[in-house]
Amino acid sequence: MPTPLTEIEASVSYLRKTFDSNKTKSIEWRRDQLTRLFRFVTDKQDLILEAVAKDNQKSYGEIGSEMAVVNNEIAMALHNLDKWTQPKKCKPSLATIADRVEVRHEPLGVVLIIGAWNFNVQLVLAPLAAALAAGNCAIIKPSEVAPHTEAFLANWLPKILDNSAIRVVTGGVPETTRLLELKFDLIFYTGGGSIGKIIMSAAAKQLTPVILELGGKSPVYVHSDADIEVAAQRIIWAKTVNCGQICLAPDYVMANKSVISKLIPAMKKAIVQMCSENPQSASYYARIINSNHTQRLKSVLDRQLLLSHSKLEAGGTVDVQNRFIAPTLVSGVKTVDPLMEDEIFGPLLGLVEVADVDEAISIIKSKERPLSLYIFAKSQKIIDKITDNTLSGSVIVNDLLMNMIIEDMPFGGVGSSGMGAYHGHSGFLAFSHQRGYLHRGTDFVSEKIHSLLYAPVSSTPR
Ligand code: NAD
Repeated sequence: MPTPLTEIEASVSYLRKTFDSNKTKSIEWRRDQLTRLFRFVTDKQDLILEAVAKDNQKSYGEIGSEMAVVNNEIAMALHNLDKWTQPKKCKPSLATIADRVEVRHEPLGVVLIIGAWNFNVQLVLAPLAAALAAGNCAIIKPSEVAPHTEAFLANWLPKILDNSAIRVVTGGVPETTRLLELKFDLIFYTGGGSIGKIIMSAAAKQLTPVILELGGKSPVYVHSDADIEVAAQRIIWAKTVNCGQICLAPDYVMANKSVISKLIPAMKKAIVQMCSENPQSASYYARIINSNHTQRLKSVLDRQLLLSHSKLEAGGTVDVQNRFIAPTLVSGVKTVDPLMEDEIFGPLLGLVEVADVDEAISIIKSKERPLSLYIFAKSQKIIDKITDNTLSGSVIVNDLLMNMIIEDMPFGGVGSSGMGAYHGHSGFLAFSHQRGYLHRGTDFVSEKIHSLLYAPVSSTPR
């Protein structure tokens, strides 16, 4: 049930009153809310598994890793709350030597957290942990595209958390549009770039800061000295988790002709090992979120396979009605082909032949800055060459996705893959204002120092 449009403004006003009462600034309140949230995700684990699995048939193992990110975020915030909230002493200058100078971490106020369907629980609760640790009030807007998790969050969070400071708004475009007409102190949005632009222009009207966690085409380059078997296994693993519906999923793979000829059989083997000969009957292989997205992926694949230079190497089976797409490998993909247009966000993987590492770099640079960049190589010179000549949200060498689980590594994109970062301390900082504080005395010494600034300030003639 979407939240009635008429209730949305009242909820935001109510939260603002709570924030203005200073209730959420107390460390005890923050600790209590974080503890409740932690107990909620551990005690209600079975219900979370059930809701997520209903949305896209992910295996319980996959959902477990999704929830581990949330557990870690909350646990880390609880563990570091006292440390993070302490004012940070600044080095005084000569003119402020007798003063108290520090940076205080203040909550921003009432924040809006908008999530995306592919990890509908994680993508609102992990930022919520950071928002609470920083002492904010928050409106959470999970994605309506994953209705079971949306309903689960709307049903349970008000029973667990302080309803005067945290509210869930459900629904899609009309409800989010209504929210975006209102004043927030930060909008934290996860989702695609085209909606990201709508969020950012609505925020600009109120000068509201935004953090945008977007996606894009994360490339993989496999060099000739790489361990091909290992690269194939890890790429296929990262491409088939959640059926490729991960912002960090490898989008396309570049390698020279000889490497590609070795990657193809190794990847085919990995697909069978990880998803069985018949992925449609493998209980641990997820489904596409809905038939629209399945149809979208099918038409990209169909258009790609119409091109005579591309070859279907594995998979290709699509069952729109059952939202199933087999792990699919296509070789001979050119940079202007359908598979190279938009972010794939599904289990289709194009292999792009490049002459050398320089061509791979120029392809990466010709596209928008990716959320992640994956390099499989032994030579540090090659790794450095790629990293020194490109920019991406993150770089991972000889693996994929793993930055997601490093609690204290800032997680976020750059350019069109996003702005701002969170996770661990970065999350706390993202939801805080770093407020400069200088306290000068009015005693004799302080005044003597300050009087140096009084006119005539300088004897230098004009
Ligand atoms: P989505 O359809 O769930 O939309 C995201 C949010 O935007 C939802 O809450 C939705 O209600 C809202 N929304 C939709 N249309 C809107 C409109 N017209 N105006 C205002 N709000 C609107 O998710 P999606 O965009 O399909 O998500 C997939 C994308 O998200 C991919 O590009 C993926 O890479 C990216 N993503 C990024 C991260 C990250 O952490 N960087 C994580 C997950 C997904």
